[in-house]
Amino acid sequence: MLIVVQIGSPDGASATCLNLDCTQYKRHNPCLLTNGYICKMTSTQQKNIRHITLPDLEEYFANIGDKKFRAKQVHEWLWQKHAQSFDDMTNLSKDLRQKLAGDFSLPALTINTTQISEDGTLKTRFKTFDGHMVEGVLIPTDERKTACVSSQIGCSLSCKFCATGYMEKQRNLTYDEIYDEVALINRQSENEYGKKLSNIVFMGMGEPLLNYSNVLKAIERISAEDGLAMSPRRITVSTAGVAKMIRKLGDDQVRFKLALSLHAANDKKRNEIMPINETNNIKALTDALNYFYKQTKSEITFEYILFKNFNDSQPDADELIKIYRQVPADLINIIEYNPIDKFKFTKPDEDGIEKFMKYLELHKVNARLRRSRGKDIDAACGQLANKG
Ligand code: SF4
Repeated sequence: MLIVVQIGSPDGASATCLNLDCTQYKRHNPCLLTNGYICKMTSTQQKNIRHITLPDLEEYFANIGDKKFRAKQVHEWLWQKHAQSFDDMTNLSKDLRQKLAGDFSLPALTINTTQISEDGTLKTRFKTFDGHMVEGVLIPTDERKTACVSSQIGCSLSCKFCATGYMEKQRNLTYDEIYDEVALINRQSENEYGKKLSNIVFMGMGEPLLNYSNVLKAIERISAEDGLAMSPRRITVSTAGVAKMIRKLGDDQVRFKLALSLHAANDKKRNEIMPINETNNIKALTDALNYFYKQTKSEITFEYILFKNFNDSQPDADELIKIYRQVPADLINIIEYNPIDKFKFTKPDEDGIEKFMKYLELHKVNARLRRSRGKDIDAACGQLANKG
């Protein structure tokens, strides 16, 4: 709902419209809505300060009679120093912090719980301003500190092997919430392991390409010089396979890497475990990946979870190799399956895994076996479900 507050005189000469939301009236001065009066048409909800641009912030400070450089200071607090409240902005006066808190909201994610695995993996449950929970994981190794982040609360794609797929999708995360996940996990990495994050993977809860604009905007903020300044080449977005949006990534010339969760190398089997394959089949996906590569030259990876007696035979490996050769993919990550209660499949025994890997090697496929991390705290691939 919008309310209109008249704050000026009919001639409109003495003030500028303060309404940063006003698109309908294009922030005319004098305002067209109030017949010459300067109006302050505000939403009954405060505007999220991270949803306005730096030029708009500059205009805001000019309108309240403050210096332009305040906008830069606030912007730095929001996107570089990761302030979680206006009170954190200690180089602003108390009065100004109170004024900002009155005019804007800052709905930051907060940490609800953190669990630590025996292998050092940290799983954190974050709470959103409206009471939802979402999980993110810090995976430390000697060489890398990787954040696995979520893009949605729940997921609508219902992949059978994934705990998140059994939760209803509640809503998309906003770009500032995704940014918060990364910034908070980065802080954990510095505190626990003395190192900043080296990599980010969008492999947590949700399908990133079904929250396209927020994910791209979050990556822009994470990689911007006036953001967290992390290279987009160290960011991987993983998709269950939305062909149209993979093509859009190509059109948008993104610089981050793309991973396709393949998990079965023919349509019949893939339909069985990933319902999205019924509308986005393997041919549509490989075509889209080729288009993506042509446009971006960005790295492509296949993800393939091994399920015992389902996709781990030699003919399965042959089909996988065939797909690998149809796309300029750099790598196949073979992932150890982490059983969840609701899905009947198990992982192959060690001999079976080794045989499959050897067969790929024999056929000169660049494949790597990814062992599970954080299994004991349900933080491994496919296990995120806000279980605590
Ligand atoms: S694997 Fe990804 S896309 Fe599939 S249900 Fe889980 S979160 Fe959603």
